Amino acid sequence: MKNTYFTPGPAELYPTFQQHIQTAFDKQLGSISHRSQAFRDIYKFTDEQLRTLLNIPKTHAIFFTGSASEVWERLLFNCVEHESFHLVNGSFSQKFYDYAGSLRKFAHKLEKPFGEGFDAADIEVPEYAELVCMTHNETSSGVQMRVADMHKLKKKYPKKLFCVDMVSSAPYPDLDYTLIDSAFFSVQKAFGMPAGLGVWIANQACLEKATRLQQYENLTIGAHHTLPTLWKHYKDFETPATPNVLYIYALGKIAEDFNKIGVGTIRKQTEEKAKMVYKFLEDSDLYSPFVKEERHRSQTVIVADTKKPSAEIIAEAKTAGMVIGSGYGAQKNSQIRIANFPATSAEQVQNLINYLSNSR
Ligand SMILES: *Cc1c(COP(=O)(O)O)cnc(C)c1O
Repeated sequence: MKNTYFTPGPAELYPTFQQHIQTAFDKQLGSISHRSQAFRDIYKFTDEQLRTLLNIPKTHAIFFTGSASEVWERLLFNCVEHESFHLVNGSFSQKFYDYAGSLRKFAHKLEKPFGEGFDAADIEVPEYAELVCMTHNETSSGVQMRVADMHKLKKKYPKKLFCVDMVSSAPYPDLDYTLIDSAFFSVQKAFGMPAGLGVWIANQACLEKATRLQQYENLTIGAHHTLPTLWKHYKDFETPATPNVLYIYALGKIAEDFNKIGVGTIRKQTEEKAKMVYKFLEDSDLYSPFVKEERHRSQTVIVADTKKPSAEIIAEAKTAGMVIGSGYGAQKNSQIRIANFPATSAEQVQNLINYLSNSR
């Protein structure tokens, strides 16, 4: 029997992934040159499908990296001369902040306790911060930041660059790219692919900043995948280094599958499934939603406090073919995390709810 993975990344594979990889093998895409027209056509197709899916305008380019955490480093190298500012409320947003320190930037953070979220009204961005780093979905705690708050914040600080880590939620957040300068994700979460590809969306303002920083003699913007280099190659739908052609192809095909369903429908289905899970958690005497404020509750990674040790629940569910995530870090044994990505259907979510309600 096959398991259903409700883990928040790596996660359940999107049902069409295997077919797309088979087609890629049939087309021998593992052997084509990344300087060939065949590759440029693949890059262009994936770029078009992602633009349609996420409503990305021409002002922004789309690049491929090895992972999303690679993009943390690229953004800090390319878009920060001295200071970055981070909204931190869990392990992933904290790591983004830590990267800034490792790169010897002056990193500031506004921190909220684990399980709490940010509203635009709470946030004061320090005067000299150049890049504001926000995490749409904090995967460790199941907290999301509403896109309306992200947009509001940018309007309050229009001169600063704003970037969004949407790793464990894209394509769910409907970002307004006239306000968001950069956003990024990796494919092993809501896109339902195995790990191994990051996607970085960035605009002209980011490129201009990187180009300017590169001219400072004592400042490095890194050697690998600098924004000016990525952008130069992007103009021809090429990449500086040899890319993950197979996954760029599969991502384009999965984005096309999403577009056929329609991103509006995918977002609505996500909300409906999340509602089912939250309602179950609220009605249960064995589980409760960890995030108290409804407006901060993630639609894509749902975290629950458990009455009995979560390791027992996880082991039991596994025997029924359902793999759920453990709590993150210190919460490992007192919480479970349930991914709600497009790869799992409402029926599969209902099966999980039925199983959890019937087991004691
Ligand atoms: C998983 C995750 C990352 C890291 O992604 P990698 O592809 O493993 O580098 C970053 N941010 C968030 C919010 C994540 O969930």
